[in-house]
Amino acid sequence: MSHQQTLQQILTSIDGRGYASYKQLSGRHRLGRFTLNVDKVQVDPFAPPSLMRISLSREDAGLPADLLDDRLGRIAASDFLTRAVAAAVDADAAEGSGSAASISIGRPGQQVLERTSVVITEDLITARLSVALPAAGRRALGVKAARLLTETLPRVAEASLLHTSLDQDALRSHVTLLRDQEDLRAQLTAAKLVCFAADGSVLPRQAGDSDLPLGVDAVEFHSPDSLRRSFTLPSGRQVTGMGVPEGVTVIVGGGYHGKSTLLRAIERGVYPHIAGDGREWVITRDSAASIRAEDGRSAAGVDISPFISGLPSGADTRSFSSTNASGSTSQATNLVEAVEAGACALLIDEDTSATNFMIRDDRMRRLVPAEREPITPFVDRVRPLFTERGVSTVLVAGGSGAFFEVADQVIALQDYRLREVTAEAHRIAADHQATTTRPASPDSGVFTTDPARVPRRASLDPGKKTKPARSRGHRMIQYGREDIDLTAVAQLVDPAQTEALAKALDRLAEQADDARDIAALVAELVERLDVEGLDGLSPHRGHPGHLARPRTQEIHAAINRYRGLSLH
Ligand code: ADP
Ligand code: MG
Repeated sequence: MSHQQTLQQILTSIDGRGYASYKQLSGRHRLGRFTLNVDKVQVDPFAPPSLMRISLSREDAGLPADLLDDRLGRIAASDFLTRAVAAAVDADAAEGSGSAASISIGRPGQQVLERTSVVITEDLITARLSVALPAAGRRALGVKAARLLTETLPRVAEASLLHTSLDQDALRSHVTLLRDQEDLRAQLTAAKLVCFAADGSVLPRQAGDSDLPLGVDAVEFHSPDSLRRSFTLPSGRQVTGMGVPEGVTVIVGGGYHGKSTLLRAIERGVYPHIAGDGREWVITRDSAASIRAEDGRSAAGVDISPFISGLPSGADTRSFSSTNASGSTSQATNLVEAVEAGACALLIDEDTSATNFMIRDDRMRRLVPAEREPITPFVDRVRPLFTERGVSTVLVAGGSGAFFEVADQVIALQDYRLREVTAEAHRIAADHQATTTRPASPDSGVFTTDPARVPRRASLDPGKKTKPARSRGHRMIQYGREDIDLTAVAQLVDPAQTEALAKALDRLAEQADDARDIAALVAELVERLDVEGLDGLSPHRGHPGHLARPRTQEIHAAINRYRGLSLH
């Protein structure tokens, strides 16, 4: 380990030399009470920034032990510290020389996710940073780098990693909030609810491309009386609001009355949100999956026969493969894969669904008899999904009453306000049924088999693939020569999750053994993440890059969208 002077000497000596001389920085350096580990030095000024870790002892940091003695406490505290580092970088860059702007720790959004950015162990607190080392053309600016690493960096760390520098009440509330939120999520299962949304929540966002809450114009969420539930949480806090029961729930209402906004909040409710977000008490069971049509996606060996069978081409839909699925077949594929990945509930919006996948009206049922229609619409399958597989559905349907008779709950939105209208909807459905030819009860025994999908190892780890997979932006992964498009994976919320998914795919490729199916491979990986943390995704020790934990659902979604995937 070098001392501060040595680090300064190295950097001064390479000032003006070729950029590659920064390589000498690799290794461990002491900076007062901090230790700096330089794990990966960028090869040139245009390469991804260098990866470094700055750490100090738990004792020096002085964070209260009771905040860190459980997994959730550590996740919340490390999220808090990540935000504190990012804020300290911004403040330093604004006040000081601006050099802090080359330091990055990733930028958490409205969700609190398990991340690699700050790690809290028994004896150390470590912030993992990326640092763009300064250059003039292709020359190293060693003297400037010395100021950056030996002055700016410790200053940022002092301002963000020491308990005495932090807003201590805010830190405690941050930890308490996450513990309460996850306790509530755990209570949902016993209460047989798919999700919960507290009275007073603010669901709408500022804009389509903003995840921040709408301001004064927002109408606060209030539960219909019939669905109102209360929960007591570990901190003693009580929350009251709407509990959506298991089964089939349909959200109706006129256009622009807030249906999609409610569903979107439920989709995002699989993640905990920060205080002030407005959705911090919208909590959804962890495995709930958003399902939409996704024209053009690829599919490998998916059994979509409960929805689509007897194609005129003669293709076997018990093992459906395509490089360019249609609206309805892609939505069926997304649904079946989500169930395979363990979804307890499906979240579906008419806005993003294929109409012919969802419903078929009575006139069409008369004109084109079922035997000649390859598609059995979702409305005929939504009940067996629940009764045979225990998979609930929350569905937005403003344009069709077809789901009234299969719904356990119908909730109406009017001017962003909710009312339960189940009885009325059932009455309308009963009146209507007397005059139609619709079969009274849908088929049963349709979701009984669950064929194992075993990936070919060779298809995951093609000889040509020499580089590790990596993410490009928020919704694209480069895997070998293929791009995996995750645009339609609605519950992927952070680019750091996408980067983690890229690494997850490489680990799955290593695990694949031509025997186990996708579900078993992903389960093994998830178990490893539970034990080792996210660092388990990286083949190297040290800084694994800015990663945030994706759900099991999204790991399945990524591998299932790989165009090279082939099965036994
Ligand atoms: P729908 O799906 O019923 O057509 P949306 O959910 O798309 O309606 O909402 C329409 C518009 O109303 C959006 O701009 C949305 O931001 C806004 N909005 C939704 N809910 C609220 C609310 N509770 N308060 C204020 N504005 C809202
Ligand atoms: Mg809508």
